[in-house]
Amino acid sequence: MNIFNKFPLVIATSLSLTLSSAIQADELVLSAQQQLTEDILRQLIEFESTEEHPEQTRAALEAMAERLLGAGIPESDVVIVNPEPDLYGLVARMRGIQEQQPLLTMAHIDVVTASPDAWAFPPFTFGKKDGYYFGRGTQDNKAGVAHLVANFMRLQQEKFVPNRDLIMMLTGDEETAGRVADWLATEGRELINAEFALNTDAGGGEYDKDFKPRAFNVQTSEKVYQTYLLTSNNPGGHSSIPRPENAIIQLAQALVRIGEYQFPVRISDNTRLMFARSATLESGQTAADMAEMGTGNYSTAAAERLAQDPYINAIMRTTCVPTELTGGHAENALPRVATATINCRIVPGIEPANVRAKLEELVNDPAIQFTSVYDAKPSPASVMPAALQETLERLVDESWPGIPVIPEMSTGATDGLFMRNAGIPVFGVAGWFMRSSDIRAHGLDEKIGIAEFHAGTEFWYRVLTTLSKP
Ligand SMILES: [Zn+2]
Repeated sequence: MNIFNKFPLVIATSLSLTLSSAIQADELVLSAQQQLTEDILRQLIEFESTEEHPEQTRAALEAMAERLLGAGIPESDVVIVNPEPDLYGLVARMRGIQEQQPLLTMAHIDVVTASPDAWAFPPFTFGKKDGYYFGRGTQDNKAGVAHLVANFMRLQQEKFVPNRDLIMMLTGDEETAGRVADWLATEGRELINAEFALNTDAGGGEYDKDFKPRAFNVQTSEKVYQTYLLTSNNPGGHSSIPRPENAIIQLAQALVRIGEYQFPVRISDNTRLMFARSATLESGQTAADMAEMGTGNYSTAAAERLAQDPYINAIMRTTCVPTELTGGHAENALPRVATATINCRIVPGIEPANVRAKLEELVNDPAIQFTSVYDAKPSPASVMPAALQETLERLVDESWPGIPVIPEMSTGATDGLFMRNAGIPVFGVAGWFMRSSDIRAHGLDEKIGIAEFHAGTEFWYRVLTTLSKP
């Protein structure tokens, strides 16, 4: 999950219908529905579903399958997939009357490894303190799994008949290879084929400094990941008799040229709308510059002022940055080899081949070899159907009145990449709010506000029922 939002966030409270203060939340009596959702989250946290423990990932998926079957979803509609050894996923389907194409919902059950010594709470034990649930995966992305599983169970028990099939896809390797999503998007396509997908693993709510909801982000695109290796070779020799060609110096000069270059600003329709709506939340020069970007007719000066913020810079243009450097083999020898890794994050819609060509032009040195370490997998920006946009804006306004819905480009990737690549538009709508100091995905003492978590369950109930109302 990529949750690094553009602006400072502070905690928000929640749906007005739930709790007024996160601080009191762990003392409150939960409704039966909230208790069930908490139990699902607790059960999920206690599986150590990391890359090192595929059997735990499988067990977590089986536990979710058992709950769905227990709620009455037929066995033929709850499928555990295993496209490769040790890689698992789950697809569940609630059958509808098929007036519309199916709606796909997404979450992942795997988590990043956590070392218990550094945590205040053991990472794979469910903790509850000061208005938060603690545990690895509370943010990324087991809350999303719990939201989907609890709502599918509820809808099944309410005998809700949607006007389209509702599909839930839980993957077991989002944090690593993403092979399960890749397989489902291609070979397993009939299991998950849908008009569009809603992803619990991106987007979501943002708070202002007064702990009030400020904006609701919907992830519509992700930057494309590509890594290159630059290798500078030289015959070497004794360092007491240097020659003009030196592998380290040649590589360093190439890196300086790459470092001094800025890719052009590229503003998609989604990014333009993001600026237009974000302008209303800002003040002074920043508000004026964002409003100007939002018109699509902007000056270089406005773009470059905004680009002083590294996050905004990253969503406005392709970036390529050196991330690793090695070279030489002895203190008193001329280096025979020097290498540098260049990691690029490409704006959707830009050809990766053009980015590579630009880098090669900047390097401009036949002594430096250029190889691809990780090939780009294209992930075109998703265009939101008007009806979906209208529905989401209305539901957000009903739950958190007055805040804007803002399209978001992630600077990293999720499983949504594979769906977009396969032609299924994806919209990231994590249904909960948090403050910037609470961003703990992949980090220590990961936690989610209790009030926010339960508001998220209710938000997803409304999303699912509204988008499939007969
Ligand atoms: Zn995630």
